[in-house]
Parts: sequence; structure tokens; C-alpha cells
Amino acid sequence: PTTQPRKHGVRLPPDTNTELFELAIKDLQAKIGAENVEVNDKDLDDGWYMDHPKTHDAMHITDQEELVASAVVYPSSTEDVQTIVRWANETGYPLYPISLGRNLGYGGSAPRVPGGIVVDLGKRMHKILNIDGDNASCVVEPGVTYFRLYEEIQARGLPLWIDTPDLGGGSLLGNAMDRGVGYTPYGDHWAMHCGMEVVLPNGELLRTGMGAMPGPDGADNPTWQSFQNAFGPQVDGIFSQSNFGIVTKMGFHLMPATNNQSYCITFPDDDDFEAIVDTIRPLAQQRILGNIPQLRHIIQELSVTGRSKSSFHSGSKPMTREEIRAASGSLPLGECSWVFYGTQYGPPETINQQLAIIKAAFSSAIPGSRFFVPEDVPQDHYLHSRAKVCAGTPVLRELDWLNWLPNGGHIAFSPIAPTRGSDARVLHEILKAAYARHGFDMFSTLCVAGREMHYIAEIVYDRSDEKMKHRAVRLVREMIDECAAKGFGEYRTHLLFADQVARTYNWNNQALMRFNETLKDALDPNGILAPGRSGIWPQKYRGKGWEL
Ligand code: ADP
Repeated sequence: PTTQPRKHGVRLPPDTNTELFELAIKDLQAKIGAENVEVNDKDLDDGWYMDHPKTHDAMHITDQEELVASAVVYPSSTEDVQTIVRWANETGYPLYPISLGRNLGYGGSAPRVPGGIVVDLGKRMHKILNIDGDNASCVVEPGVTYFRLYEEIQARGLPLWIDTPDLGGGSLLGNAMDRGVGYTPYGDHWAMHCGMEVVLPNGELLRTGMGAMPGPDGADNPTWQSFQNAFGPQVDGIFSQSNFGIVTKMGFHLMPATNNQSYCITFPDDDDFEAIVDTIRPLAQQRILGNIPQLRHIIQELSVTGRSKSSFHSGSKPMTREEIRAASGSLPLGECSWVFYGTQYGPPETINQQLAIIKAAFSSAIPGSRFFVPEDVPQDHYLHSRAKVCAGTPVLRELDWLNWLPNGGHIAFSPIAPTRGSDARVLHEILKAAYARHGFDMFSTLCVAGREMHYIAEIVYDRSDEKMKHRAVRLVREMIDECAAKGFGEYRTHLLFADQVARTYNWNNQALMRFNETLKDALDPNGILAPGRSGIWPQKYRGKGWEL
């Protein structure tokens, strides 16, 4: 059971009282519709991925009632969003915009300031505004999921792919805002966006890119979804992972559907890690690898079976390397230490030539490498679900590893390192030692590109075990500082750690944060939009003990 009886009443926004809050909510209800503003006064239910809460973080890593909304509001249009923003400027209450709030592992729907008003854009704003088959692009509202866009493209019979992350229930727009990744050649979601419409913190409306120029007769600009870097400063970037605006429309490029072949390669030893990374680098830089491959530690093969840890191991200690290897022996890929998942694209002749080069590179660098295609493994093996994701079909398979522990929750620790074996080793050893120190199994998945790699280290914990949650928080805090000391910084973080991560990006006396604060104060003088997001606090909150 994930519903806990509520311990406290409504968590009010800062600097207000119940009477003022109730008046303000009535006012907002009058503007947006009574049924579209809900006060968060019921028991908190963690739900599950497809039915997740908008009131708090379903994957809470502190007390379930710590990072909670006072109310959730459901706008139906850009005008509604402007109305909400103007209301927030009058009341001073902090807003926290989400598209769908399925950013699980990074904070879900939770507002950074307890008692903030969650603006749930996805509930009523979920139109696919356009799919342009010739331009291979689309324009969506915040509530459009990967599943929804996929189904619509299928229904229209268009030869286009979407690019989905590991789980298909998220919002295209929300995931791109947090710079999430997918696994086709269009996997860099932020890079593949093209044009957006933004409500600024003062209620003003902005269109970026070519969208800043009106099309003929009041139409949208005809190249809004074709060219990102229109004229003048490229401002789109300041809206991602920030609190400078609420995005109500976003364009994306879509990949033309193509022939493809997924595969995986296993490597026998933990210590092959450096050689694997050094082999990927030139293959990726030369664009012989078709996508950004995933390199997964073998423990992920165990967890993605959906079986619990207790079926492989007794006791609560982390599994040892020997136990993991031994358990992997009974799985379809056989005993090994790392698994590389890749996909090649294009005509079969091209794919075959590329695969020959890739196989030769890994076989000569790492003796004992073994190569598999989907036909080599049973239907329920992860490679089949990988093949779908890498060909633009959304799935939910990756949820399976939450069964690892009872009441399984997860957060992700996601540092960036150079694609170089020696750096990869230093990072890996820091994380390994930290996980061992705090008694957690280490779930490593690396997205290895030609020059950098995203090291995604998942921490799986029991949400009902407060002590374990404290340990997980300490683990992340230590890793942030230890990684920063070596120059490895997080590309994205759970909102609880945003201040600490922001403090590690401190070259030249926090020049970057001072720049962000200058923008924040200019754009949001009343400090109403997502205070604390990415460690950026508006003036009225700064230095008052909000930073964690
Ligand atoms: P998803 O459901 O795709 O995982 P979320 O809706 O959880 O994505 O969005 C991730 C984060 O990005 C949110 O917590 C929020 O900080 C930011 N965000 C999402 N959508 C918007 C938006 N439309 N405007 C501004 N920020 C947004």
C-alpha cells in the first residue's frame, strides 16, 4: 500500500496564512474554474508510473510530506497559464510547472519549495498541434506523451519515428526541458527541439527561433519547426533546466523511419571497462556507431528480469561481484560483466559493413567479447525491448527493475565524464566505493558518446524505510562532492540536490550562478516561478536558508 495517512494539514506556501491562502485559491478558482484548482489536503498516494501523483514526488527520498504542493492547478490554454502567472505575481505564491511530472528519479511532480502551487500543464493541454510529414517535425503541447505521439503517427501512416527515453509515458516537452535522452540518432531531445512558445514570469508571451517572426496573414512562421538558430542571441537554452519561463508549445524534429538492426555485445570482466570505453570513442566519433549506445553493468540484466533481489541473494547487503557474475550465468547472455546495447541504421549492406567493423574492434580489444542479435535470445529478453526503443517504439520495460526491493523507489545520479578509459575508471571507482560504503547495489548504465559519457547510476531503495532513504541521500551528497573534485559534474539532478550541484559549477567565483541570478531577477522580480529550480533562487529567497 502506498497511501499513507496524512500527518500534517495543507502545506501552505511561504509567508502566508490559511485565511489568505483560501481567499487566493477562491480567486484562482474563479479565474480558471473551481474544478481546475485542487487543494492538496487528501492522503498522499504514490500511485504507480502510469497513474502517478501531481502533489508530491512518487519516488520520495525524504519524508513523503516534505516536498508537497499546497494546490495543483490545471490550465487548459496558454491564456490560462498567463492568468495563473499573473495571479502568482499578485499573491507572491511560488508556482512549479510540470508537463506530466513523470520525471521520476529526479523529483517527479514535487515543487522545490514546499507548499508551492504545482501547475499541471499536461492534464488539459495535451494536443498534438501539428505533424508535418514533409518537414519531418511536430509541434506539441506539454501533455503529449511518447505513446500518444507514436500512436498518432501510426494512425496517420506516416513514415516517421519518435525518439523515446527508456520509459514512454513521459512528456516530449517536459523531458526535453530537463535535457533527457533517447536512443535513436535523434536521442538528444533538447538538440532536436525546434522553436517554442513561452509564458514569461510576468505573464508576457514569447516565441523563440523563427517563431518570433509572424507568418503571412497571422499564421505561424512557416520555418518555425525548420530552423532553430534564427536571429540574434539563441535564447532557447536559458529556458531549459531553469525557472525563467513556462513552455506551452514546443516543436521537434522527427526522424524518418529506416531499416535498423539492434544487437548487444557482452564482455567477460569488470576490468574490461576501460578498454570498452576506449573502443567506443573512435567508433562514435567516426559515426560508425548508429546511436549513442548503452553500456550496462551485468547487475542490470538481473534487475530487468523483474525479479526481486531476494531471488538472487539472501540478506540485505549489496551483492558481491562474484554473486552477480554467478547469477548472470543462468541468464540468456551467460556469465559476463558488462553488456553493450547498440543499433545500426540504414540499408542492410551498410549495416552489415558497420557491424563487421564494430565486431572486429571489440573482439580485438577485448578477448572473450560475444555478440548477440535479437534472434539469439528468448522473446522476453531485454534486447527485444531495446530494439523497440532504438527504433522509436515506446515501452515500459525499464519499470521492471523497481521490483528489486519491496516498495522500490529510485533516484538517479548522473555525472558526465570524458569518453576516456582512464577517466571512466576514476569515476567508476568513486561511485563503487561510495555505494559500498552506504550498502547499496550499484546499477550502472552509461550512455557513451564520442567525447563524453552520461554515467547514470541508479539507487534503488525501499520507500517505506526512512533509514535507507537517509543513507541514499548521504550517498548522493558524498558522490556530488567527490566527483566534482575530479571535474565530473551532473548533467541533471533530483531537485533535492540542485543547490549542491549548482555550487560545484563554481568557476570564477560562481560566475555562472551570478549570471543566472541576474537573469532571474530581471525576468522574475517577484520570484514566483519555480524558486530553487537548478539551484537558482530569486532575490527574495536568497540567503534565507532555502539552499540545501
Ligand atoms: P516528464 O513527465 O516528461 O518526465 P516533467 O513534466 O516531469 O517531465 O518535467 C521535468 C521538469 O522540467 C519539471 O520538473 C519542470 O521543472 C520542468 N518542466 C517541465 N515542463 C515544463 C514547462 N512546460 N515549462 C517549464 N518547465 C517545465
